[in-house]
Amino acid sequence: MKITRFAPSPTGNLHIGGVRTALFNFVFSKQVGGLFLIRIEDTDRERSKKEYEEDIISGLEWLGISADKTPIRQSERSDVYQKAAEKLIDSGNAYWCDCSPEDLEAMREQQMAAGKKPMYDGRSRDLGLERSKNTVLRLATPIDGETIVKDLIRGDITFKNSELDDLILLRSDGTPTYHFCNVVDDYDQGITTVIRGEDHISNTPRQIHIQKALGYNELEYAHLPLVLGEDKKRLSKRHAATSLNAYKEMGFTKESIINALALLGWSTENEIFSMNELIKSFNLKNVQKGAAVFDLKRFNWVSSQHLAKLNDDAFIEAIHPFMEDEGIDDVAPNYKEILIAMRTSKTNLKEIAYATRPFFFELEEYDEKGVNKFLKGSLETLTFALETLSKISEWNETELDMALINVRDYFNLPIPKVNQPMRIALVGSTISPSLGLTLELFGKEKSLERIKKAIDFIS
Ligand code: GLU
Repeated sequence: MKITRFAPSPTGNLHIGGVRTALFNFVFSKQVGGLFLIRIEDTDRERSKKEYEEDIISGLEWLGISADKTPIRQSERSDVYQKAAEKLIDSGNAYWCDCSPEDLEAMREQQMAAGKKPMYDGRSRDLGLERSKNTVLRLATPIDGETIVKDLIRGDITFKNSELDDLILLRSDGTPTYHFCNVVDDYDQGITTVIRGEDHISNTPRQIHIQKALGYNELEYAHLPLVLGEDKKRLSKRHAATSLNAYKEMGFTKESIINALALLGWSTENEIFSMNELIKSFNLKNVQKGAAVFDLKRFNWVSSQHLAKLNDDAFIEAIHPFMEDEGIDDVAPNYKEILIAMRTSKTNLKEIAYATRPFFFELEEYDEKGVNKFLKGSLETLTFALETLSKISEWNETELDMALINVRDYFNLPIPKVNQPMRIALVGSTISPSLGLTLELFGKEKSLERIKKAIDFIS
């Protein structure tokens, strides 16, 4: 059975790049009837925080990416690492080294001066040193030959063993290092397939050396392309929000987040899909080797496609918390009708909720661009429209549309010259459903009042 894992270091909130890694691991394992596990790599005691760990796990759960077993925590497993270290010492695959930082620095300088790549030269390997408070435990790495990383995305990647130095496994205070824990845990958790970011490629041959020394089975690897910003630098807050929470708060549904993140480095013909469809069609072989560029416009497009798939009731339910945040109660007049009319006005729930405010609250201001472009110079049109509309007794979309045609015909104006100033009068901007419907939703009294206000504003 295939077993994958997501192994975050809880040193920050769940990053969308991390979500993509977790997602690909999850999807891959579900596709083959395997297991998906989580491991918290919290050996860096200073930077690791419980709140980040909770944020990571709850974020994944919200998305439906939950582990098949209780997550394990490296900070609680020191016995396991000590045992593995003893095994390596007993088998002669690890040795104690007492080189001081000064020794290592001098070694580095000499190597640099000789035009060589600086690396630990293995000088303590055959000294048979005993453990002391000044010794670290190092892996006796093969000196010759090659290590091949078989990557499901990139094919075979070959590393010369002579370029890899004897890795530290235990620090002088006895604590295990990152690579060591990572390898021991993959074995203990029964992991078969490691899917992680491309930035880990150079760690892989080192980890394979530890695996071999411990007599563990080989693993499968897949290194995912990095996620970059549009300037081709690693995605950071400078480019766009990076935490999952930020996207959740912006009103992207979990379906759209999963879909948009799956498209970061993976492509398929039908670009809009659900988690189940993704599990059916995902293929690691179609993951690109080159970096994936994060594009917020594409994210928004994916979101709008998912919102469009919801039926009205599901949409109303999904947007409810965002309407509450705006202080809009679901018993407000025309609540549902307004939401349905506005549901395609923006690409995420928060912005749609915000865009409905003019229907529920007094207008605070008019959009400046709209004022300059459409409102100024429309005094005559608005005055005539006010007069025409005030005569309407059946206040419904059909009657209102007819009245608007009359206004246009009277002045012989194109549609925007009448409709846009009216929209600004009603909702403060040009974002509103069809004008007849907008007027109907406001009702006669409110509509006339807002048109009057706009007339006062420009005159
Ligand atoms: N803890 C590592 C990280 O957060 C992941 C290591 C791995 O997946 O092997 O980058």
